[in-house]
Amino acid sequence: MMKKLLAVLTAVLLLLTLGACRSEPDEEQDMHTKDIFAMDTYMTVKTYGKNGEEALTRSEKEIHRLDKLLSTGSASSEVGAINEKGSGTLSKDGRVLLKKALELYDMTDGAFDVSIYPVMKLWGFTDQEYKVPKDSQLQEALALVNAGDIVFDAKTGDVSFAKDGMAMDFGGIAKGYTSQRLTEIIKDAGVESALINLGGNVQTVGTRPDGSDWRIGIQAPDNEEDVIGGIETHDMAVITSGGYERFFEEDGVRYHHIIDPSTGYPADNGLTSVTIVCDDGMTADGLSTALFVMGKEKAMEFWKAHKDLFQCVLVDDDGALYVSEGLKEGFTAMGGRTATYF
Ligand code: ADP
Ligand code: MG
Repeated sequence: MMKKLLAVLTAVLLLLTLGACRSEPDEEQDMHTKDIFAMDTYMTVKTYGKNGEEALTRSEKEIHRLDKLLSTGSASSEVGAINEKGSGTLSKDGRVLLKKALELYDMTDGAFDVSIYPVMKLWGFTDQEYKVPKDSQLQEALALVNAGDIVFDAKTGDVSFAKDGMAMDFGGIAKGYTSQRLTEIIKDAGVESALINLGGNVQTVGTRPDGSDWRIGIQAPDNEEDVIGGIETHDMAVITSGGYERFFEEDGVRYHHIIDPSTGYPADNGLTSVTIVCDDGMTADGLSTALFVMGKEKAMEFWKAHKDLFQCVLVDDDGALYVSEGLKEGFTAMGGRTATYF
C-alpha cells in the first residue's frame, strides 16, 4: 500500500512576528486580535487603535467570502464551477486574480502558471489523496497546462479554455490577494496600524503604533522553530514560498506543492525558500511561487530586471542566504548566518 504521510503546515509559526518584546504596554492595550482558520491555514489579524474591532469583524467576513469564492475543491465555488464546465463568467475578485495571474505568467516566462490545476490534481494536492503519478499521466496533464490557452475578457469576466480538461488554480496568489483586500478593508475602517498573517504570508498596514517599522521573521526551511532572519518594514507584504509548507513523502522521497510547469514535478531548482517584499500582496505571493520555480540564478536575474517592483530573500539547498540589494538596510540575518547581497 502506498505510503502516505503528512503534509500541511505549521502556519502560525511559519513567519514569526518579531519584536513583540519591544511593545509598550499602552500599545498592547490598544491591540485587537483575531485567529481564523480558513483557506486550509491558520490566520491571525492584529489591528491597533480606534475601530480596531470593527476592522477585524470586516476582515473575518472578507476572508470567509474569498475562501468560498476561490476554493478549487468545491464545484459550488466560482472557480470550481468554471473548472468543471470549462467556461463561465468571473466576478470582480476573480477578474482581478486572473488578470494578475496572466500578467505573472508572461512576466515570469511561464514559471507562474495558473492553469497548473490538472497537475496539482494528479499529485493529490487538491484532495490530500497524495500519490506520485506515472510519467505518462504527467505528460498528459502537462499538455493541458498553458495559461496562454485561457481565453479571457477582463472587461466582461468571460473565461473559457482552449482545451478540454484545462482548469485554473489560484492557490499561488489567493492568500496574497486576500491580504491585499484586508489591507484595503482595514484602512477603510480608519485603522492605520495592523499586521495580517495568513499562514506565514504577512502584510503590514502602516507602521507599528509607535511609528517604528514592523519586524517580520522568516522561518528556516528545515526547522519551524528557527528563524533565518528578520525584515524591518512598513506598508509591505512579506510573503514566503517553500517546499516545506505542504508536502508528502513516498518511499523516503519528499514531494512538495510548488510545481515546475516545465516538468510537472515539484520544483527542484536549488532553492528551499523564497521571500518577496512588495507593496502589493498578490504580486508578492505570485512572485514567491515563481522565483521558487525559477531557482537561484534565474531568480536573481529576474530581480535585476524588476528591482523597482520588489525585494527578495532566497535560501538555497545548502541553507545559504542571498538577499537583494534593496534589503541591505532592512534585513538582518540571524542564528549565526550571513547574507550575500546581490
Ligand atoms: P503557500 O500557498 O503554501 O503559501 P505558494 O504561494 O507558493 O505557497 O502557493 C503554492 C500553491 O500555488 C500550490 O498549492 C498551487 O495551488 C499553486 N501552484 C503550484 N505551482 C504553481 C505554479 N508553478 N504556478 C502557479 N501556481 C502554482
Ligand atoms: Mg505564492
